[in-house]
Amino acid sequence: MSEIQLREIHSTEFPIPMELQDNLAITSLSKIYNWARRQSMWPLLFGLACCAIEMIATAASRYDLSRFGMEVMRGSPRQSDLMIVSGTVTKKMVVPIVRLYNQMPEPRYVLAMGACASGGGPFKEGYNVVSGIDKYVPVDVYVPGCPPTPQALLYGLIALQKKIDGQSLANMDDVPWYGVGPSEPTPIPVLGPDIIDPRQRDLIRQQAERAAAGLPYAVRELPQIKPAAPKKATTPKPTAPAPAVATEAVDPAKAERLAKREAALAKKRAAEGGAAPAAETPAPVAEAAPAPAAAAEPASGEKPKFDKAAMLEKIRQRKASKQ
Ligand code: SF4
Repeated sequence: MSEIQLREIHSTEFPIPMELQDNLAITSLSKIYNWARRQSMWPLLFGLACCAIEMIATAASRYDLSRFGMEVMRGSPRQSDLMIVSGTVTKKMVVPIVRLYNQMPEPRYVLAMGACASGGGPFKEGYNVVSGIDKYVPVDVYVPGCPPTPQALLYGLIALQKKIDGQSLANMDDVPWYGVGPSEPTPIPVLGPDIIDPRQRDLIRQQAERAAAGLPYAVRELPQIKPAAPKKATTPKPTAPAPAVATEAVDPAKAERLAKREAALAKKRAAEGGAAPAAETPAPVAEAAPAPAAAAEPASGEKPKFDKAAMLEKIRQRKASKQ
């Protein structure tokens, strides 16, 4: 035992001389018992899904579980202290998980790694997935994530060590495995169309009898749904007069533009058909403004269009006058 470890377990209530602290420690039985347990936690070696890959990475050299005394993953539940449930717990797998848990000796701990083991994760309410392993075995630490990183798993393991540190041999609730007689095994769920917890067998039988007799058998009563209150008659808001105004008073400039466009279209249609434009067809826009000056002074106030031919003609005239 190194001096650092000695100071770790020394109880500060009992001061000892400085020169003796490397060789002497005064502590309680609970503290030294917990110290020994938390430094030699052996996990059970099994994985269920993708989270198991992160658990394997945690045990590899980069993260090095052996710093916490947890590197000895055991292939047998009888030599394990910690069950890391890493991955999706299907209804089929929950049966061997509970059986393995029962085969682990006390004191034993369970760590739910990832969203699937903690509550079903992305498969929650799936037809073949249980909504968390804590419905079947008691969980001590939950590690969130999908998947949790190796650092997150290490953090969960440190949290478990702190939990062990807080346990006292004087409190029987902390160490129930020292209670009177052997502890009750956790009932192994019965696999079927819907997984059954054997502890609820009597309740299930009662419900089946009530259902056979044609009586209501649901355990939970559905909440009464209140009828929706009739909606209050709301006074219609005064409609905006804008649409009506728009239909009644037509903008004269817009009307003129529309008329010109119609005339141009009619002329085009007539030209495509090989016939001369009708005499009564209104003059098209191009004819209405043959000269650039006319285009620069629109009667309706609209923005004049750029007439490239007129501009070129103007430039040509200017050049000619200079020569
Ligand atoms: S929590 Fe995410 S990463 Fe872990 S087993 Fe479920 S789906 Fe896979």
